[in-house]
Amino acid sequence: MQLQDTEIEYAKAKLKDFSVDYLQSCGHSPLAFIHSFGCQQNVSDGEKLKGKLADIGFGFTDEYTKADLIIFNTCAVRENAEDKVFGTIGDLKHFKEQNPDTVIAVCGCMAQQKHIAEKIKETYKQVDLVFGTFAYNEFYQMLWYVISNKKRLFNISENSTEISEDFKQLRDDKLKAFVPIMYGCNNFCTYCIVPYVRGRERSRKPEAVVDEVKRLVEDGYKEITLLGQNVNSYSYGFAELLKNIDSIPGKFRIRFMSSHPKDASKELIDTILGSEKVCKCLHLPVQSGCDRILAAMNRRYTKAQYLEIINYAREKSPDFSFSTDLIVGFPGETYEEFCETKELIKQVKYDNIYSFVYSRRSGTKAAELEDNISDKQKGLWLRELLLEQREVSSQWLSRFVGKTVEVLADGEGRTGEGYITGKTDEGIIVEFEGEKKLIGEFIQVRITKAMNWALAGELVEDK
Ligand code: SF4
Repeated sequence: MQLQDTEIEYAKAKLKDFSVDYLQSCGHSPLAFIHSFGCQQNVSDGEKLKGKLADIGFGFTDEYTKADLIIFNTCAVRENAEDKVFGTIGDLKHFKEQNPDTVIAVCGCMAQQKHIAEKIKETYKQVDLVFGTFAYNEFYQMLWYVISNKKRLFNISENSTEISEDFKQLRDDKLKAFVPIMYGCNNFCTYCIVPYVRGRERSRKPEAVVDEVKRLVEDGYKEITLLGQNVNSYSYGFAELLKNIDSIPGKFRIRFMSSHPKDASKELIDTILGSEKVCKCLHLPVQSGCDRILAAMNRRYTKAQYLEIINYAREKSPDFSFSTDLIVGFPGETYEEFCETKELIKQVKYDNIYSFVYSRRSGTKAAELEDNISDKQKGLWLRELLLEQREVSSQWLSRFVGKTVEVLADGEGRTGEGYITGKTDEGIIVEFEGEKKLIGEFIQVRITKAMNWALAGELVEDK
């Protein structure tokens, strides 16, 4: 049987029959274990696979030893994430020998790379199914092929760039939902593997996105995060989409990520500030504070252009919140150039930074550059950067002290019994005394103390 000859509906029907037979013989549905590594986009893809599996009668387990289908949905952004996956699938060799009918699958960004698929084919014979980011629409055919033929299947073709709206995403979280609005990236930053593993930008239709958000709000979701590698290049107009989602009735928050600084416009800031539900914060990944490094990264903006957006937002709203991503130790970076990044942290005053040591990704332009900075050196710079941020944020967060802010309570606090935690509009963690029943509610909290990464407060009104 050839995969392309097997229609989706045929494979889906066969898999449903398989689940019914399984239920009759074992007394429970076949079980799947799905682990997604990496970014929110990947988590969202994992939830789509769950939706597809639920649709054919599968149940789910958190213990891989109980699973009939094990899926590792992988990330390719950093080398250590890939090493972790190889370690995990390596550990399953013995398990597979003892459970030959359990299907083991590896999918996602890492699997999309040819050399990785080859390595799995040659070295990790316990893996039955490998599929890349373009093959999700063929999931039923692939799974049925492997189950019915008891043969291995490798599918990393880039045939299908179509966006399918015909699925139910099975979300783990009942309060916060990620909603992809686009896939892929056209930017080719020199260090980044994403354009190679997720292809060119494809945007979902605005009607599909708005309908999905409406359904989520009706289902009680309180925070919606729109996802895309560069939401500012959403084909149908991102500011317009935000306005449409903002007008959906109900009490909920809208977040989005990520915005590429080269496309982040003053219009975007105006739309954020003019909206009711869009959080007044922007994740604007700068990566470096040095123009020479930014050019070497092919980021296509300068520090001055980046600061223009920051300054525009702060002129209109002095407390406007920014967060960013930073890479330390890009090939050829000098200590002086690294210090420009530290300087930028002071200048912008970020509420949060996500900083990483440069990770060489083969196939990218930067991988051809001489990486002349030792791992130890990169580690020291990262530490220095984090100390700088700690100092900046502990002062910058004190702007909240004495103010009353709206917090979405989302879990139990770290302080202990009787404390709960939540996030402000700006995404800052707040811990306060309160009952568990408040989790899932928007609450007014007076901020009493700023720490270097979070705030402490007290309830203003009990709901
Ligand atoms: S914008 Fe640059 S860093 Fe972001 S996904 Fe695209 S290529 Fe990678």
